[in-house]
Amino acid sequence: QINKMKSIKETRKSLPVYQYRQEILDSIRQHQILIVVGETGSGKTTQLPQFLVEDGYTNDGKCVVCTQPRRVAATSIASRVADEMDVILGKEVGYNIRFDDRTTPDKTILKYTTDGMLLREFLNDPQLSSYSAIMIDEAHERTLSTDILLGLLRGILQDRKDLRLIISSATMNATKFSKFFFDCPIFNVPGRRFPVDIHYTLQPEGNYINAAITTIFQIHTTQKLPGDILVFLTGQEEIESMQTKLLEILSKLDNTKFPDLLVVPIYANLPQEQQSKIFEPTPKNCRKVVLATNIAETSLTIDGIKFVVDPGFVKEQSYSGGVSKLVTVPCSRASVDQRAGRAGRLGPGKCFRLFTKWSYYNELEKVPKPEILRTKLNQVVLLLLSLGINDLLHFPMLDKPKTIQLSEALENLYAIGALNSRGAITKVGQVMCDFPCDPEYAKVIYSSVFEESCNGVLPEIVTIVSMLQESNSIFVPGLNSEEKTKLFGSLMQSSDHMLYLWIYEQWEENGYSRRWCQDFKLQHKTMKRVLRIRQQLWKYCRKQDFLLKHDQNLTQLKENMPRSVIEAKIIKCFISGFPTNIAKLSKQGYTNIKQDLSVSVHPSSVIFNRMKQEGKPMKYILYQSLMLTSKEFIRDCITFDKY
Ligand code: ADP
Ligand code: MG
Repeated sequence: QINKMKSIKETRKSLPVYQYRQEILDSIRQHQILIVVGETGSGKTTQLPQFLVEDGYTNDGKCVVCTQPRRVAATSIASRVADEMDVILGKEVGYNIRFDDRTTPDKTILKYTTDGMLLREFLNDPQLSSYSAIMIDEAHERTLSTDILLGLLRGILQDRKDLRLIISSATMNATKFSKFFFDCPIFNVPGRRFPVDIHYTLQPEGNYINAAITTIFQIHTTQKLPGDILVFLTGQEEIESMQTKLLEILSKLDNTKFPDLLVVPIYANLPQEQQSKIFEPTPKNCRKVVLATNIAETSLTIDGIKFVVDPGFVKEQSYSGGVSKLVTVPCSRASVDQRAGRAGRLGPGKCFRLFTKWSYYNELEKVPKPEILRTKLNQVVLLLLSLGINDLLHFPMLDKPKTIQLSEALENLYAIGALNSRGAITKVGQVMCDFPCDPEYAKVIYSSVFEESCNGVLPEIVTIVSMLQESNSIFVPGLNSEEKTKLFGSLMQSSDHMLYLWIYEQWEENGYSRRWCQDFKLQHKTMKRVLRIRQQLWKYCRKQDFLLKHDQNLTQLKENMPRSVIEAKIIKCFISGFPTNIAKLSKQGYTNIKQDLSVSVHPSSVIFNRMKQEGKPMKYILYQSLMLTSKEFIRDCITFDKY
């Protein structure tokens, strides 16, 4: 233990920011706002908040907070910093992410949180009075929540002269932030970086997954140890499928000839227990290959990486014409340069780009497009309105969304009853704002209590909504629809929503047992997270007096409702929250009712399975998400015949 503390202390001192500790602290004393720019891995996220604590910013019972765009970064960095400070995670140092608050109000002095969660804190405390210093980290990522946070903070700094704001960013964008914050100073932490050899493919790659696998094995079989590999992929599913393929190949490989290859995944929703794996030192005679989303681009630094394999793609939210979807797009030049840099932290490295040099210079955008320009603004518009900010056009923002984006958000919020015809927030809108989920889902829950035509199904709705909040698949990886049919029988003829409901209720009836999950090929850890989400949503329902009203509804409804009635009500609740996520059957297949857009049911959906079996297709499909890959795929679907 003593040795561990000693080595942690030495590591801290070896980080580039350490040499500038006093200068940075002096700057922060002098200036209310400071921008800190530094190479990834220089110690900004782990060290700067500790410097502030050491410099007395938390002496008067106030707290230092640091935001992260991603949950996994917030949790893993909090745990690292707790180690460094030799305290228990959740006490002096904690984290707060949606559905998982690991802080102790009267103890926690340093808190890591997602930018979205800090944004929500404005609802309860518009001056953020419990904080003495706020660090907005990874600001260059320009997530929607970060942009709105910066706008709101700009407003409160005048009244809170004691509050310090630190904005930290990778190299791009720093002057833009400085201009936005009244020309505040920029502190540059000179980084060290070793040269990275960049290799391009000569031809565009048709299948970048296969190309990446080939490249991994080329590196593994020709390059000396030590030297770990970092591969950038677009999401959990891609990572899991590549992991499976790699393990398959490895099992056939002649092990005696090559060192072991250790495959470790990292993505936003990776369960906490598995996160620490990527930071464990690679064993001797072994090479680690990390399969990561762009979380490893700047948020997390993994030591020991010498080779980067970069297909050059990223999954992004996109929104146009009232339809929002996930799309895989080429990265910007700034991003792929950042990725390449990950190979040169400890010594010279190599980066293998799975695209052409021509494409780099001619096809890639210079910098990524800020999220605020390509996403649905419903939730933030509702939040700003509820904070009393009515003049959205003049709210200070680094990049202004288009007027049409704002008016579409207002229109959507009106359609789900969050705003009245004068654009003022309604009582329902206020309730939606309070719920820790998208306003659309809050509306679904609200309807299950207060809408005449669909009340009486609150517990069922809260269950389904909880299942839909969990973005990890509840099924074990690779489970196909034949196996699912064997396990779930006639439920595979219903809908995703009804299957989720059945699964949760059965699991509950079986005492939330692990065995039961194993029998039904479900991920117990994921289900346990669903349980926690459900408990929290239930708490909000109680707080809003939904439970009382629900009990009254049940007394009025008298009899036990048959499953078909419950299902009809569930559908109505979801339509009330997602009136535009509906596809209608036409001659060409299914088309979104809001926009002339053909969509296909994703093979993972129960509805896909059902369409294969049944002759007559259903007239309408309500879906929870739309993803563009080879086609416009809709997922998490429920069908109905009229509305
Ligand atoms: P920056 O924010 O400037 O990119 P960080 O503060 O995140 O830099 O990282 C500083 C160092 O701390 C890096 O060497 C990184 O590997 C190490 N580090 C961060 N998180 C962990 C962790 N959970 N376990 C072990 N080392 C970590
Ligand atoms: Mg960082």
